[in-house]
Amino acid sequence: MKKLTLILCALMLSAAIFCGCAEKTPDNTINTNPTDEVETNITTTVETVIPSTIKPEETTETTTEAEEIVYKPITDNKVSEDIVEPDPTEKPTNPATRPTSPSAKPSNPSTGDEATTSPTTPTKPADPTEDKRYKYIAFTFDDGPHYDLTYKFVDKLAEYGGVGTFYVVGNRVYGQQASALKYAYDMGNEIGVHGYTHEYYYDSCSDSRFKSELSKTAKVIKDITGEQPLTMRPIGGGITSSRVKSSGYAVINWNVDSNDWRYAASGSSGVKTIVNNVLRATDEGDIILMHEIYYNSYDAFCEIIDTLYDRGYRFVTVSQLLHLDESNKGKLYYSAD
Ligand SMILES: [Zn+2]
Repeated sequence: MKKLTLILCALMLSAAIFCGCAEKTPDNTINTNPTDEVETNITTTVETVIPSTIKPEETTETTTEAEEIVYKPITDNKVSEDIVEPDPTEKPTNPATRPTSPSAKPSNPSTGDEATTSPTTPTKPADPTEDKRYKYIAFTFDDGPHYDLTYKFVDKLAEYGGVGTFYVVGNRVYGQQASALKYAYDMGNEIGVHGYTHEYYYDSCSDSRFKSELSKTAKVIKDITGEQPLTMRPIGGGITSSRVKSSGYAVINWNVDSNDWRYAASGSSGVKTIVNNVLRATDEGDIILMHEIYYNSYDAFCEIIDTLYDRGYRFVTVSQLLHLDESNKGKLYYSAD
């Protein structure tokens, strides 16, 4: 009987122990789940670390980036201004560097806007006259190239994110002047035909002379640029309507005459006159006649382009201004007033 009692007692004790363990297990699971504990600890750790150590650094970085975004265009502008004095070592010599679309032109100096590279429309160059915030005009420079002034005109245009059109005299394209012409082309400017000798007017010379003046000049241009010119400027602006049609070019005269050649040797008063001639007459869509072989013309041009830029004008080639292509050959544009 004692034995039975002992066995019963042992059984009851075992049951009590077993039941106790069974009750404890859930409690232990809830209270000491190691996973929950770790997660909580991590959360706590991260929340603590971010404000105390990381965030100040992030703030510092953000400030630095903001300063860079503001600063970069200013740096670019300074670089652009530095280009004013032509540096022969920086001249592009490879036609591949020629901007293939106006969007590749320099940044807008006033806004610091980067030129868009238009990666989404690789096949169609952007229209440089598309931005309706601005008014567009075309500067034309006759009678070059010039070994020094061509660079100056090109670089001044580039400083304002612009390009122009250079109507060249074929027999002046040699040596340093040929290099200057290539520079103008490589910088995105339009090169057009003026004449080969600059000795004949196209409304009075012979047919054979008319044709040879154009063809010889076009060959000289194509030899340097690899491109057949699209536009032509008659000597003195004179040309018969039948020769316009047979010329094979879009014939371009002008509607703002700087008369710069008249004041080429008139000192600073001459420069002032040239400036006034252009500024008082220029309006949206105009083609302005200047000559790239006079220093007075260049001095005046620097003031003209600066003023017109501030007035909201931007500077494109004749072909860009008039949206010319092959279909425009044989037509006359502007009246050479
Ligand atoms: Zn001329």
